Amino acid sequence: MRNNIRVFDEDRLEARRLTLRLVGLSGVIILIVSIIVSGIFYITARGLAWAPGDMGFIYSSVLTIGFIISIGTGLFGAIRESEEFLILAGTACIVLAVLNKVFTNILYSWSYMEIVFLLAGAIMIMDRFHVRRVKIARKLKEEMAVAPMQKPGGPVGIEGIRVGRGRIFDFREGTPLEVRGTPEPADTWRMKLYHDKDAREIVRRFLSSDLKYIEPEIKTSTKPSYPELADIEKTTTRDLQSILDELAETGVLVGELYEKLITCPRCHQSSKVFLRSKCSKCDSRKVRKNRLVEHTECGAIYKEDEYYGTEGSKCPKCGKTFQHETELEPIGVTYECEACGNVFNDPKQAYYCRNCAYEFQFENCELEDLYSYTLNEKIKPEALEKISVLSVADALEGLGYKTSVPGVLSGRSGVGHEFTLTYSRGERRFAVDLVTSEGPEVNLRMILPSYAKFIDVGAERCLLIAVPRLADQARDYLEANKIPYIEGENPTDVSLKTRHYLESAT
Ligand SMILES: [Zn+2]
Ligand SMILES: [Zn+2]
Ligand SMILES: [Zn+2]
Repeated sequence: MRNNIRVFDEDRLEARRLTLRLVGLSGVIILIVSIIVSGIFYITARGLAWAPGDMGFIYSSVLTIGFIISIGTGLFGAIRESEEFLILAGTACIVLAVLNKVFTNILYSWSYMEIVFLLAGAIMIMDRFHVRRVKIARKLKEEMAVAPMQKPGGPVGIEGIRVGRGRIFDFREGTPLEVRGTPEPADTWRMKLYHDKDAREIVRRFLSSDLKYIEPEIKTSTKPSYPELADIEKTTTRDLQSILDELAETGVLVGELYEKLITCPRCHQSSKVFLRSKCSKCDSRKVRKNRLVEHTECGAIYKEDEYYGTEGSKCPKCGKTFQHETELEPIGVTYECEACGNVFNDPKQAYYCRNCAYEFQFENCELEDLYSYTLNEKIKPEALEKISVLSVADALEGLGYKTSVPGVLSGRSGVGHEFTLTYSRGERRFAVDLVTSEGPEVNLRMILPSYAKFIDVGAERCLLIAVPRLADQARDYLEANKIPYIEGENPTDVSLKTRHYLESAT
């Protein structure tokens, strides 16, 4: 379940990173200072006395080395943003401080040292949470850069969302101007496909149960086509097959081999390729195929048409007429050359392309794989969400609204909230959150983040869309709080209901 896409502010992220470094380094600095101070105290109190046999000397040497190692580890952890090293260093500091306490209770009394070490250890361990937060934020930002929710192309009403320092998502292009990190090529490609009008229409049909399965229709006169998508094929500016190929390659559709078509090696077309049978002796194409039939009663074997003369069905050998074809038993096929009279069983076969007048053998042909397609069940939740959002945006644009996907709207608090989309007409801007559930219902917990934003923005400016439907409790909650909502099974349903909602509202 995802109800909207977070927009991360680069400055905020940078500030967090700086805080992390400062906190990490301050822990280390406290340690260094404390060791220097204790060293000075030691020297001023006792003088520089080299006494390796002294218990106190051994103890403070071990302690000093222990702290130096902890400092190094902590410093490394803070700089490399390593949670493991920070935990290790922090724990070591605390353990050393506790050990120090145990020993100094015997040798010395409580000093400020333990408190400093405990504090430093705690800071290092706390720092680990900062590191984690920064890492999560960065990861989300990268994911967002890879798979931003964008608006399909269109000349009007498209707004860019500022994401961080000078980084603008260009909705018209359907791509962020600068993609951070190393994106999964198939994922980015898939997101682009959702924004392609024709590809989106194909996926929408699958999601809206108009389609479960499509298969190609193979005709000899034209290219193979998909009857269910004939209208798209007519209007698309692209090649339907290449759209289907891309949908299959990005995992939206699952293709299953339907047929292999023999394709001309010269012009690469399959539509006008025909099989030719030729005489084994003279290569003539004037070859006739004859079925050999036996008259079971007398054992006569003739070509099939020799039994059918002008006066009805009659055996040429025994002269008996017969009523039922069951008295004839097909026993094989022979070929007869009309040019040289050769009768043979194994004609030479060749393929001929009428498109470019080229004859070729099967060994030289190209095979074109034709597939039937179904929607990939694994991608279904994602596709349901993205296509629903874009279908709603399409419906809104159709009603003359300007839309932004995702959109930001400021609440009464002054905080800018990110919504699945915002739409506007004139000065008035409205917010929509679309919440999808992979389960049968969208429950109360799933709509609460939207509810919080709606309250700040004002319920009258908001609309919640739940796919496929709301749980009773969630519905009661929205009604009690006067928040408008729409429930829809699929993208078609959702966009129709959005249109009805807005038409009845105005
Ligand atoms: Zn050809
Ligand atoms: Zn012949
Ligand atoms: Zn007969």
